[in-house]
Amino acid sequence: MSAPLQERARDVAGLVTAREVREGAGVLVRRSIGGPELDHLDPFLLLDEFRSNEAADYSAGFPDHPHRGFETVTYMLAGSMEHRDHRGNVGHLAPGSVQWMTAGRGIVHSEMPRQERGLMWGFQLWVNLPAVQKMTEPRYQDIPPERIPEVELPGARVRVIAGQTGGVRGAVEGIATDPVYLDVRLESGGAFEQPLPAEHNAFVYVYEGTAQLGDVSERKVLRGQLAVLGPGPRVLISAPGAPARALLVAARPLGEPIARYWPFVMNTREEIVQAVSDFREGRLG
Ligand code: FE
Repeated sequence: MSAPLQERARDVAGLVTAREVREGAGVLVRRSIGGPELDHLDPFLLLDEFRSNEAADYSAGFPDHPHRGFETVTYMLAGSMEHRDHRGNVGHLAPGSVQWMTAGRGIVHSEMPRQERGLMWGFQLWVNLPAVQKMTEPRYQDIPPERIPEVELPGARVRVIAGQTGGVRGAVEGIATDPVYLDVRLESGGAFEQPLPAEHNAFVYVYEGTAQLGDVSERKVLRGQLAVLGPGPRVLISAPGAPARALLVAARPLGEPIARYWPFVMNTREEIVQAVSDFREGRLG
């Protein structure tokens, strides 16, 4: 099989194995973007998977902390979290739900488990904001599970969180980087193909089973690995031997300077200094 270069599916340009780190007040997460192997993949700044049956791994949660200059996206597979911010907003993150939080000029919030035992499983993705939107008003898109469209294809089921697939629009709208965020569940032998804008950066994170990417140079991607995709008009994910589940995420890169001081992401050092002093003086939001 040899497809012309401009038609072939995106190849794997790099593979990152998620590493365990403790975040928040001691929550165990597996980090693939935002760690030593992959500092960022413009406009993505961080990807964490949290998955544990042990309450000790998640019970401490993420007590009050600030964000400025980017977006946090929480997608729950199992378990239940509660979100509270300094403006009095309260949100319940149930299994299958997503919260797309545009922190903009500032949010101080907590993300705490609403369970004392059992499986807690989900993802947090950080998406950068363009300079012109870093100081925008904070905005929440809290999407309950039933509002996330699900597309049934032969051999695959796809939940459309953002972007669109086969004419079905995702639940999240109005995001600066025009993201695609799909949760792809493949049966054994199943395959899924997704067109992507040529300029979008894209990755696939496998969270169950083993997936195969590309149609010319087929690469295996194991559970807990993130594949950075090279250029091309489409993505092909397949699961030759056994079922597999993966996130396919893409967005338009910003190409702007990144000044990052946990958990503020701005364009210049001066803006970071400003963010820290705004937070200290209670002027963040
Ligand atoms: Fe947070």
